[in-house]
Amino acid sequence: MTTTYVLRGVRPLGGEPADVVLSGGVIAQVAAPGAADVPAGEDVVEVAADGHVLLPGLVDLHTHLREPGREDAETVASGTRAAAAGGFTAVHAMANTSPVADTAGVVEQVWRLGQEAGWVDVHPVGAVTVGLGGERLAELGAMADSAARVRVFSDDGKCVHDPILMRRALEYVKAFDGVVAQHAQEPRLTEGAQMNEGVVSAEIGLAGWPAVAEEAIIARDVLLAEHVGSRLHVCHLSTAGSVEIVRWAKGRGIDVTAEVTPHHLILTDELARTYDPTYKVNPPLRTAEDVEAVRAGLADGTIDIVATDHAPHTREDKDCEWGAAAFGMTGLETALSVVQATMVDTGRLSWADVARVLSANPARIGRIDDAHGRPVEVGEPANLTLVDPAATRVVDGAAQATASGNTPFAGRELPGRVVATFLRGRATVLDGRPVAAAAAGTRGGAR
Ligand SMILES: [Zn+2]
Repeated sequence: MTTTYVLRGVRPLGGEPADVVLSGGVIAQVAAPGAADVPAGEDVVEVAADGHVLLPGLVDLHTHLREPGREDAETVASGTRAAAAGGFTAVHAMANTSPVADTAGVVEQVWRLGQEAGWVDVHPVGAVTVGLGGERLAELGAMADSAARVRVFSDDGKCVHDPILMRRALEYVKAFDGVVAQHAQEPRLTEGAQMNEGVVSAEIGLAGWPAVAEEAIIARDVLLAEHVGSRLHVCHLSTAGSVEIVRWAKGRGIDVTAEVTPHHLILTDELARTYDPTYKVNPPLRTAEDVEAVRAGLADGTIDIVATDHAPHTREDKDCEWGAAAFGMTGLETALSVVQATMVDTGRLSWADVARVLSANPARIGRIDDAHGRPVEVGEPANLTLVDPAATRVVDGAAQATASGNTPFAGRELPGRVVATFLRGRATVLDGRPVAAAAAGTRGGAR
């Protein structure tokens, strides 16, 4: 027996109010308020949702779930529960696990763990090079042909810096409509780097990670993608210069897409003055001018998506001096709020635009747009998230679903609250809380 959900008075994509009925895994009705025809004799749950915004379930192209290998920081189960709490219905799990996801065996393991957990659809990212070693290509074709059907390949955490390997990877993925997602970091220019290179790094004496180390790789890679006629995705773009390069490349017709993280939309390198390693991240927090440039790039479509780069770390790896701390911050449970604060409440994006940058575009780039990032229309899969944009909350790191506490937003008030998340019509989050029964029992549903 499946539950039918009647969402009363919701605003699909922030538009006119409607009643939306979810039944049999799909959107069964979109009716005027009060006009939904609710079938009798079924298990029906009414959700009072006056004025709440209904979006297609969010899709994260860049999540670190840490399993296998670092289950002390996060597991597929805890990370995907956090994803559901944040309004996501699908995540792409990065390959820098232990062992690295560089074979069909490992990507299938992660994919199965995702199905068993049942919170969101987990789509493993395959490594570009064996062991992220940057020396020879991994078995991209075998991962693409596996049960996990990998389409996104990345050495994220490391840059594919050898131009010949990058060229071959771009050529190789064309055979199965894949994409290479590059962590753009010129290694020689960033040896020992701890934070953005600029005024603040000079003043506080931490080694700098210059903007040019990101921009030089992006410039090279868009030209390589053009040369071989392949598809490139730029991970966590963070500088004004990177926005300009991507804008130029798109104007030239190069098949490139780009992402920005929530933290690069709101935080700056001034936070390094605290020496609190919570703010240590790769690429580093940049300047206020860079923040303005990435917001403008997201608003004008130069940047296609927001992706979290959710990077959970244990207390031991973060509660230490800056130089010894791991790079990364969590993001799944705050991403939508940060996008609302920086882009919606400032008038730069509509809710329909949010659906584009947090759902439709990442689903298309990851080639999962048969099931995710769909219009909110009758007959479409009921992968949805319901947001109360009028709510505010103070972020409590300890109360989050992720197994790690390294959120940079602890104690900060953010707008918006995910009220409910639905995966194929099944509530994974209801009344703002993950639904315990959501886990398990969904095998075979992900594809
Ligand atoms: Zn990265």
